[in-house]
Formats: sequence, structure tokens, C-alpha cells
Amino acid sequence: MPRSEGTALPIVVHGIGAATGIAVGPIWIYSPTVPVAGEPASAGEDPAQALERAATEAERQLEALADQLRAIGREEEAGIFDAQAMMATDSSLLDDAAARGRSGLSLVDAVREAAAAAADQISAIEDELLAARAADVRDVGARICRILTGTVIEMPAVPSIIIGDDLPPSFGAEIPPGLALGFGMAGGSRTAHVVILSRSLGLPAVVGAAGLYETAREVLDRAGQDSVCALDGETGEIFMEVDQALEATLRERTRALAARRARAAELRSQPGATSDGRRVLLVANIGTADDAQRALDGGAEGVGLFRTEFLFLSRASAPTETEQVAAYRRVMTTFGPDRPVVIRLADIGGDKPIPYLKLPAEDNPFLGVRAIRLAYGSRDLLETQLRAIWRAGALAGVVPHVMAPMIATLEDVDLLISLRDAARDAVIASGQPCATAMVTGIMIEVPSAALLAPELARRVDFMSIGTNDLTQYIFAADRGSAALAQMQDALHPAVLRAVALIAAAARGAGIPVAVCGEAAGDPVAACVLVGLGIGELSADAASLDELRTTLARLASSELEELANRALRLSDAPSVRALATELLMS
Ligand code: PEP
Ligand code: MG
Repeated sequence: MPRSEGTALPIVVHGIGAATGIAVGPIWIYSPTVPVAGEPASAGEDPAQALERAATEAERQLEALADQLRAIGREEEAGIFDAQAMMATDSSLLDDAAARGRSGLSLVDAVREAAAAAADQISAIEDELLAARAADVRDVGARICRILTGTVIEMPAVPSIIIGDDLPPSFGAEIPPGLALGFGMAGGSRTAHVVILSRSLGLPAVVGAAGLYETAREVLDRAGQDSVCALDGETGEIFMEVDQALEATLRERTRALAARRARAAELRSQPGATSDGRRVLLVANIGTADDAQRALDGGAEGVGLFRTEFLFLSRASAPTETEQVAAYRRVMTTFGPDRPVVIRLADIGGDKPIPYLKLPAEDNPFLGVRAIRLAYGSRDLLETQLRAIWRAGALAGVVPHVMAPMIATLEDVDLLISLRDAARDAVIASGQPCATAMVTGIMIEVPSAALLAPELARRVDFMSIGTNDLTQYIFAADRGSAALAQMQDALHPAVLRAVALIAAAARGAGIPVAVCGEAAGDPVAACVLVGLGIGELSADAASLDELRTTLARLASSELEELANRALRLSDAPSVRALATELLMS
């Protein structure tokens, strides 16, 4: 959004707050180093050899980067570069680049195009975590191109707010400590790797700020490098050409936020509870085994949702049972026997196509053969996963918790239980160690399951509400549609009434009920959910401190009264306003 004459200062670009905190300082624009297309660095070298040499060098650099990060305890980011090292020598990427090279492109263009094609394939799948993988593939392609042409990534000269269309993970990891004050991206998602990195460094980040790149360029051209800018990772605002008064206000807010965070972090070892002592288990959502340590360090009392589908996506064949045992065991061992780790059976099919499963294309994938429904056609995939969970539980010395997504009927639960028991019998028959029991739960994220909750609750050990899908299905509004974004709010009384039904059913059956959709990590929504009877909130580890301090300030009677009033309101903004009023009081 280029500035028009007479626009008041500061200019504000709006995005999505992805990592909290406020940064104030100059901006610096990241431009991907676009190596000049042309001949390989070593003139006269055979293109196929040059490609292989560059790919091997990229793999070496990435492994070294992973080792450096691991050595300073940044395990989660190290995992990102381990995966990139594997991508660098991936034969499908290199074969495609070689084929493009043979058809007349320069080697650099061939690599760039092959990486872009692979990334496009991944981003065609509507999923935030996979969008981050697409950025990884492009990043690996850019690294191979830099090696081919002998170019390096540019870095800012002074500590700056880093602005980019999209920031590749390698930039985030290679920038020297102290030079980045925060990250603002026109593209990206809450799960982009540079966002994970900013959270682990305690730096703010904003993603999805349309027009940011152009506005930042215009400001730099007009006002120069010294113009002060600011980025608010909570509200998602990026301010350019900040005057002294706003700068002072923002710096004051930064100090207050740092003090609030430090106080919240001191309480990290305390269990989640309301001020009158009603326990609310605060657990983490994780996507890979690498996330487990960060979650534990962030004060998670367990894992409420391990989205295992990432083990299955972006690969040529299904992960083996042994690979799965290793991943589940690692998470279970990190949390030990007293902190539950809920492993969700792979939520795949439909909108997350898996080439090796050869599933037929569907016109309406969100309403299609997804998750547990796959097992009516073939039991193999989920039964293998359940065998791995039984074995991992035995090896880690814990009773595993498993949960099935997309449960819609009582038959779905019968199917889950028969898969679980068949898997246990197979492990025992094979002579492998097998856990003694499995705590078995279901996600309630389909309206039919909400209506059947009393019957479902009697058949399982726990329920967890997936408010992301439940909201999408209640309103028949695609959760990925920007045009329908205002219908994705789980605070709408229509969704809250469903949550109330489910909570009552859980109470009736004497089983625990959690929420693991995004709403659980929002302190305002969390207050309403706990007031409705939810006893467990599962959210990104970075949200847990704030959830803990918010709940500790409020009595359960206040939350119940809030929830009762919320159920009678007519829309989500009114509920949000009511809950915010209580939080501010
Ligand atoms: C949900 O639907 O709320 C949920 C937690 O599952 P996912 O976002 O992975 O579909
Ligand atoms: Mg879901």
C-alpha cells in the first residue's frame, strides 16, 4: 500500500501477530540474493557434476548449521536444518533440475525452477505447517544457487527490524545475534520457521502483512535508513515513520511487556488453575518430535495434541513402524510417565493428499474420506500407527494416550477400538514389548459428534474439542477462506453452545474434556471455555505462560457467569467484548 500524498504518519501496515513482543528501530529489507543466471562457478565443469558438487556442499553447510544450533541448545531449529540437508540431495529435486538444465535452462535457473515447482506442489495443500515446508524447499534451492554462483546472503549493518516478502529459515538462523530486533513478513504463516525462530529468541514477528514490502521500500526511499519504525507482535501492526511520542509509548509498552513476561515465566512451574484452585491442565500442541522439548521448557504439563500427519506428508512412502516408534517414544520420554502425551492418529486424506496412498480426488475434500474414515477402506495405515504407539509406550515406560480425529458416529468409535485392539494383539503376537493399556480418546470437531456427545462419552476415556474444524463445520464456512474469516471465530455463541453440550456430556460420563483448537491459546476465549466446563487447554507452548497468569487471576464462579452470559449473546464480537471486560477489570 504505497503512501499517497498527505497520508498521516505513522503509516500502519496490518498483519497477523505471530510472536509476541514489540520491536522499535530502523527497518532493513531482506532481498533474496538472486544469483545471476549463467555458467557454474567453475567454468568448464560438466553441469551434472557441478550440480552434484553444489548439492553436496549445500548438504554439508546445512548439517554444520544444524550442529552449531544443537551445540547451543537450539534443538528445534537444528531439526529444520537436518531436514533441509536431506532435501538438498533429494534425488527428485536434483533429477528435475538436471532435466530442466538439459532442456536449455542455465543450471541456476534450472535449480531455482525445480525448487519452485516442488514448493508449489507442497503449497497447493492448504495447511499452515506445510506452507513452512514449501519455504524450506525454496530456501534449499536458493542455497544451491548461491553455491553455484559463489554469492552470499546480505545482512543488515545495524540492529534492525527485518522486513521481507517471505524470510527463509536460513536467513533467520544465519543472522548474527543482536542484529534482528524482530521480523515482519508480507507472506508466511504463524508456523513459518522464521516465526518458530523468533519465538525461541524471544523476538516479535508479524506475518501476512499485505503490502508490507512495497510500503517499506517506499519509506526507505523517502525517509532513509534513519527513520524509526516499530513492529507489534501482539496486534500484528507494523508502524513506519514513528514520531517521538509514539516511540516513547511503544518503548514503555516494551518495558511493561518484558516485566509481564518475566513474572509469567516465574510461575511456569506452577500447574494451571483458577484463583480459587480449580485445576485447568495447560498442555501443548506439537507438530513434530522436535517440538517436544520447547513445549516442556515452555511449561507444558503434557501434550494435548501431537499432530502426527507431518510424519506422513511430503515423502515418497509411508513412515515405517520403526520410524514411528522412534518419534513417539522421543516425545513420551521427554514428558515422562506423569505428563500425558496425546498422540492424534494421522489426520490425512481429503485436503492433505498423500501420493503414495493413491486416494481418489474428491470434489469436496473437507467433507470427504479423511482421517478415521480412511480405515473403512484400508485398515493398514492406522493399524500400523497404533502398533507403533503400543510399542513406543512400552519402550518409554508410559501408558500412551491416543486420540482419533474426525469422529462423526458411534461406528467410528467402534472402528477406532477395533483398530486399537487388533494393533495390540499384533504387537503381542510378534513378541515385541507392548504397553499395558492405552488411554483412548476422540476429537469432537464434527457437529454430529457434538450432538452424539453423551453416547460417545460413555465409550471413550476422554474427549478433545477441535474448535478449528468444529467452527468450520457448524457454519459450513471453509476454515481457509479469507473471505469468510469472520465466520471462523469459535467465540460465536453457536459454537459455544456446542462446547457446552460436549462439556455436559463429559461431566455426565465422568471423563475429562479438553479444547485443542486455536481458541484454546487465546486467553480471552480460554476464559469462556473454562467457564463452560473445559478442564484442559492445549495450545502452542508460547501461549501457556499467558494462559496460566490469566486463569490465576480469575475465580471459577466469575468464569462460569461469563460463559452463561456469553451463551445468550448474538455474535462473536459481543462475546469477545464481554470477556475482555472481565479480563481488564
Ligand atoms: C481442530 O480442528 O481444531 C484441530 C485441533 O485439528 P486441526 O487444526 O489439526 O484440524
Ligand atoms: Mg481438526
